[in-house]
Amino acid sequence: MDFSFTPEQEALRRRIEAFCKKHLPRRGKQGPPPAEGSDGYDPEFHRKMAAAGLLSLGWPKEYGGEGLGRVAMAVFSEVVGLHEAPVGAVGTSVGLVGQSLFMYGSDEQKRDLLPRIARGEIVCALGITEPNAGSDAAACRTKAVLDGDVYRIAGSKIFVSSGHIADFILTLTRTDPNVPKHKGLTLFLVPTNLPGFKANRIKTMSGWVVSELQYDQVPVPPSAMVGGLNQGWVCLTKSLGEERTGLGGTRNMKRLLGEMIVRARETTPNGRRVWEDDTIRRAIAEFATKLEIARLLYYQAAWLQENKLPFDIPAAISKLFTSELYHECADVGGLVLGPEAQVTAASPSAPLRGKIEYLHRHCPASTIGGGTTQIQKNIIAIRGLGLPSGKE
Ligand SMILES: Cc1cc2nc3c(=O)[nH]c(=O)nc-3n(C[C@H](O)[C@H](O)[C@H](O)COP(=O)(O)OP(=O)(O)OC[C@H]3O[C@@H](n4cnc5c(N)ncnc54)[C@H](O)[C@@H]3O)c2cc1C
Repeated sequence: MDFSFTPEQEALRRRIEAFCKKHLPRRGKQGPPPAEGSDGYDPEFHRKMAAAGLLSLGWPKEYGGEGLGRVAMAVFSEVVGLHEAPVGAVGTSVGLVGQSLFMYGSDEQKRDLLPRIARGEIVCALGITEPNAGSDAAACRTKAVLDGDVYRIAGSKIFVSSGHIADFILTLTRTDPNVPKHKGLTLFLVPTNLPGFKANRIKTMSGWVVSELQYDQVPVPPSAMVGGLNQGWVCLTKSLGEERTGLGGTRNMKRLLGEMIVRARETTPNGRRVWEDDTIRRAIAEFATKLEIARLLYYQAAWLQENKLPFDIPAAISKLFTSELYHECADVGGLVLGPEAQVTAASPSAPLRGKIEYLHRHCPASTIGGGTTQIQKNIIAIRGLGLPSGKE
C-alpha cells in the first residue's frame, strides 16, 4: 500500500501554495476573521484561480482542464482550506455542477459549459432542497411541464449554496407525477436570467449566506435538460456521491489546530500555560489524531473515485467524519480559549479573531449541508453494511 503522492501531485501542492501566498492578502499569524454575512465568494480571487488553471485541474484538457484527476482536486481543496481562501463558489460550480455535467451531460453541454466554468466566467449551483423535500429529495414538488417548445418550471428551492450569485442552477424537477416518486424526476440547467426566476439571500445563524429560489413558470428549452427525461434520480445520486467526496478532508481545521496550539502555549490565565493542563493537552492530541484520520479518509475516497472503484460508502464515511469533527474543533477551541471563546470577531480583542465563536455557530451547517449526519449513517448502514432500512 502506497500512501505517498506522485511527483506531479507534490508539484501541484507547491503550485497552489505559491498561488495562495501570492494572491491572498497578507495576514497576521492568526489568519483572517470569519466570513460574517458572506457566501465565501470573492469574484476577483475566483477569476485569478481560473486564470491560473486551478478550477479545473481534474478535468480532461478538451474541456479546459489539466487532466490531473480527482486526487488533484482534493489536494487543491486541502491547500486552499489551509489558507482559508475564499473558494465559496468553487464547490458548487466545479465540484457539483461541473462534475455532474462531466458525468452525465450531453457532449454539447460539456463543450459549451465546462470551459466557461473552468475560465471562471460562470458560476453554477445545485437546487435540490425544497421546503418539504430535504433528506427525502425525491419528494420534490417543483414541476417542469412541457408547454409548446419549452418546459415551464414552477416551484421553489431553499438553502441553495451560491444560488443568489449563480448564472445557472442545476434544478431538480418533477416531470411525471404518475410514476413512483424516484422515477418521475428530471434535471434542468436553468439560466438565472430567464423571466420568472428570482433568488433571495438567506443569512444563517453564523452569518453564512445561502439562498432561496423561486421559479414562476420559468420557460426553459428542452436543450437545458441534463441526463435525460425522468433520469433525474439516477443522475442526482451520482452528483451527491461526488458532493460527499468533496465535503471531506481537513479543510480549515488544520490551520485552526496550529493557531490553538500557539494560543495554548502563549496564554497563562492562572500563571500556568494553558497547554500544561492535562485535559487540554489530551483534547488537542485527540483532535489532531482525528484530523489525520479525516485526511486519510478524504484522500482514500478521492483515490477510489479517480481509479473508478466503488467510492460511495467511503465518501459518506469521509463526509460524516469531517462534518462531525467541526463540532469537536469548536469544543477544543472552547477548552483552549476558555470564556474568551465566546468573544466575537466584532471585538478587537477577540482571540483567534473570533474564529472559535464563529465556528460554534457555523459547525451545525457542516452536519446538515450535503446530506445530514443521520442520512450519511443510513447510507453506511443500509447500503454499506446491508443492515435493514427499517421500512420493510
Ligand atoms: C450550509 C448549507 C448548504 C446547503 N447547500 C445546499 C445546496 O447547495 N443545494 C441544495 O439543494 N441544498 C442545500 N442545502 C440543504 C441541505 O441539503 C438540506 O438542509 C439537508 O439535506 C436536510 O434537509 P432538510 O433541511 O429538509 O431537513 P429534513 O430532511 O427535514 O431533516 C430534519 C431532520 O430529520 C433527520 N432525518 C430526515 N430523514 C431521515 C431519515 N430517513 N433517517 C434518519 N433521520 C432523518 C435529518 O437528519 C434531520 O436531522 C444546504 C444546507 C446547508 C445547511
